[in-house]
Amino acid sequence: MTETARTQSARYATGSLLSIRDLSVEDVSAILGLTARLQTMHPAERSAILAGRRVALLFYESSTRTRTSFELAAKSLGATTTLVSDKSSSIEKGESLKDTGLTLRALGAECIILRHPASGAPFVLARETGLPVLNAGDGMHEHPSQALLDLRTILTRLHGESSATSVSAASLQGVTVVITGDILHSRVARSNALLLPRLGARVILCGPEKLLPKEALGLGPGVEIERDFDRALKRAQVAMMLRIQKERLAGLELDLADYIDRYQLNAERQAACAPKALVMHPGPMIRGLEIAGDVADGPNSAIEEQVAHGLAVRSALLVRALGKSVTV
Ligand code: ASP
Repeated sequence: MTETARTQSARYATGSLLSIRDLSVEDVSAILGLTARLQTMHPAERSAILAGRRVALLFYESSTRTRTSFELAAKSLGATTTLVSDKSSSIEKGESLKDTGLTLRALGAECIILRHPASGAPFVLARETGLPVLNAGDGMHEHPSQALLDLRTILTRLHGESSATSVSAASLQGVTVVITGDILHSRVARSNALLLPRLGARVILCGPEKLLPKEALGLGPGVEIERDFDRALKRAQVAMMLRIQKERLAGLELDLADYIDRYQLNAERQAACAPKALVMHPGPMIRGLEIAGDVADGPNSAIEEQVAHGLAVRSALLVRALGKSVTV
């Protein structure tokens, strides 16, 4: 067990996933193995695994993919789910995160999936409730389940489906992933930049100074900054594009025409710099801004596959959070 994992298990309920840092390479491997096992199960067998268990989804920010996939994953495992969103609950009346969490626990929730605009909120919820908490995106901090589904997508597309059942520190040796766009505000970029290099990948962060200041992420080994998108693309096997997060810009002004010119992944740039690179995007994407529609719909795109891998990986995270053992 790693130092971080030890610290986490001492302070938070086992099975919580608050940061991708909490997972050792062996933990990631076990999650991938469980994901693959759940995928091959008969639906009736799968729906018995969490039968009668209660999962709460607590969402303080909009979400389509993450919320729906966690919900469908829980239901396919037989769990009962309830959704509490900031728009239609006592959160609107000013109830705190702690009190909302304690209320859900009193109602029988055994695991809480939290999306929150404040970085660190899942740690607070996990500490106050003692329940396993799955971080479904906290502010500009992390989105650990996204990094896991991105990893499964990359392994499957680059090395074949059978390679996505386990990983080691060398699984992504020789793979360069360029993450481009609004790195500063992106929890997706942070979680991926923390995970992929530990499996041997090189991560290039690419974007203009305003969206990628030098100190944007605590850059670890295997992560570098390159401002020239064409140059970065030429070295990459995977191009992960990011949305400009208008809701987090806080007054920051961008020249969109210039941004499109320098950083949009369009067919011309793709053909010139990386005709074979896998194209990824966590969604929601803004067609015509960070990515051209024909590239998003093109043969190199794994964007819809990412969504499907999200459902699969989140099933495993729920089984893990609720402490069910499944023979892999
Ligand atoms: N869906 C991702 C997130 O929640 C990316 C985005 O919103 O642009 O962080």
